[in-house]
Amino acid sequence: MAKRTIEDLNVKGKTVLVRVDFNVPHKNGTVTDDTRIRAALPTINYLTSHGAKVILFSHLGKIKTEEDKAKNDMSIVAEALAGLQSAPVKFVNATRGAELEDAVHGLKEGEILLMQNTRYEPGETKNDPELAKYWASLADLYVEDAFGSVHRAHASTVGVPALLPNAGGYLIAKELKYLGKALDDPARPFVAVLGGAKVSDKIGVIDNLLEKADKVIAGGAMAYTFIAAKGYGVGTSLVETDKIEDAKKFIAKGGDKLILPVDTVITDNLDNPTRIETVDCDKMPEGMMGVDIGPKTIALFTKALEGAHTVFWNGPMGVFEKEEFAAGTKGICAAVAALPDCMSVIGGGDSASAAKKFGYADKFTHISTGGGASLEYMEGKQLPGIAVLSDKA
Ligand code: ADP
Ligand code: MG
Repeated sequence: MAKRTIEDLNVKGKTVLVRVDFNVPHKNGTVTDDTRIRAALPTINYLTSHGAKVILFSHLGKIKTEEDKAKNDMSIVAEALAGLQSAPVKFVNATRGAELEDAVHGLKEGEILLMQNTRYEPGETKNDPELAKYWASLADLYVEDAFGSVHRAHASTVGVPALLPNAGGYLIAKELKYLGKALDDPARPFVAVLGGAKVSDKIGVIDNLLEKADKVIAGGAMAYTFIAAKGYGVGTSLVETDKIEDAKKFIAKGGDKLILPVDTVITDNLDNPTRIETVDCDKMPEGMMGVDIGPKTIALFTKALEGAHTVFWNGPMGVFEKEEFAAGTKGICAAVAALPDCMSVIGGGDSASAAKKFGYADKFTHISTGGGASLEYMEGKQLPGIAVLSDKA
């Protein structure tokens, strides 16, 4: 069933509490990548232009110590947001109390207030009912637009919307549209490309996509666990020995659907390579580490992608951060970019940065803003921050 969107709410003159995803990368007090702030603008602009009084709240980083608090002060985001749109942004350095309440009561239609980092409150990540009740008391309506956080049942993502009339914002609607289409109603052939650092992070996704997709391509470090499962040596490559049994099951379950690398780039040392070679995957020498797919594999994967009408990609094909080991990931970007009439979706933070870094970002139909959330969605899991939202009437 479709979820209610902000356009289904009457927001004029109402105080609207909006959970945004302002968990942005930052350094020395400056936001270094404002993608997530930009992604929230359609919702914020809709609300301000329709006469809502807008309260924005989000987490920023992990908070365990006072030092973490100082490092993850939301005021830096207020500055970045102010520069991106026309309404003034009032930052309140509090997550509760008189200063916050006065500022909320002082809001006029079309004005924006950003409160301090939600995780300054220890009750946030515990979905503390008292905290949820307090935040809900500040507003008339709740809008969820933090796709990157909807896989977590926190006070700001689940506690508050359970207590207020609610809806999903434009970013939520967009994410559900593309991820939902890929998973539930893909134009076929549907090819999934999986890679990245760990098999263990992605067991659920591999399992579900082996059922839902027409082909599953596996590269990146996770491929070496599969190569080990086939009985070959993998040298010093990142292998999860406790996942070899799962990999064997996937190989049996996947049959021809599962496409694995046939050659690999290897090196003696990731940080200071003195030897870089390419070998077939059944001939990996001891003492060398697999760090990218090889050229035969790029050709094989490109061929497997040919004719695809839906592509979901999660996880780089190699250590793309280093130019020497980036060819595989670039190759996949180029192969997907060249597909005519294809809905291509990236879910995964590092995959998204790779596509951006290599100049392919605008070639993809949709780049998800939620790494963990998009993975859990593609696993077929219910996301608590979505489940709590009201269905369309
Ligand atoms: P995403 O964020 O897109 O979900 P992951 O976080 O799972 O992707 O994995 C990204 C990381 O995987 C990158 O930092 C990359 O360097 C690493 N990686 C990819 N292939 C290998 C490999 N063969 N050996 C070690 N690390 C790898
Ligand atoms: Mg990652």
